Amino acid sequence: MKVNHKKTIIFDMDGTLYKFKGDSFRNSGLYGVVIENTVSYICNKLGKTKLEAQEVLDAILKKYGNSISIGLENEFKIDRYDYFNSVWNINAKKYVKFDSTISAFLLELQKNFDLVLLSDAPVIWISRVLDYLGIMEIFKNNIFSGEGDARKEFGNAFEKICKTMNIKVNRCIVIGDQEETDIIPAKKIGMKAVFIGKSKNSIADYTINNIHELKKLVNKL
Ligand SMILES: [Mg+2]
Repeated sequence: MKVNHKKTIIFDMDGTLYKFKGDSFRNSGLYGVVIENTVSYICNKLGKTKLEAQEVLDAILKKYGNSISIGLENEFKIDRYDYFNSVWNINAKKYVKFDSTISAFLLELQKNFDLVLLSDAPVIWISRVLDYLGIMEIFKNNIFSGEGDARKEFGNAFEKICKTMNIKVNRCIVIGDQEETDIIPAKKIGMKAVFIGKSKNSIADYTINNIHELKKLVNKL
């Protein structure tokens, strides 16, 4: 283990570092655009009509849930990176609420903590969002994205960070807005967890309404 007096804060991105316009992934319209782009992508890749492509997608969603990239890879040998780079190359401005104070807030936090970003989103979307919010520089060497086989939804992403960064689980604090993928797996392996949400989460150590409220917790983390 490296000698490091700083603890590590692992941030989720979507819904945590920023809020969606319309307050959720689905309501923001982003989900609809991803689905629309996926249908066009399947049309082009597999030479299908729009209707056939929609049927292919429906079958994948049924069998693989939201892991469309894995479904396309398993069923049609489509490279997941090719899929991500065409479907998720989306302008963040339309869906992400701009926060002019997030950069200064994170820079201040960075004096006392190592900051890591962990998202199941593909790196193309992560870059679009971080660039838009002006915080790419803060995270750029510590980004763990969702293309590989370590993902929050697979339950193995937090351990991977500790292994890769050579840090102990009890020196990590996870901040996220999803109980199932952010809070439960973090607590299970001995990390501290802060839930971002409107009502108190019973599994997390703390619940805050938005990222800026982390200020009040800094001394307790
Ligand atoms: Mg989230």
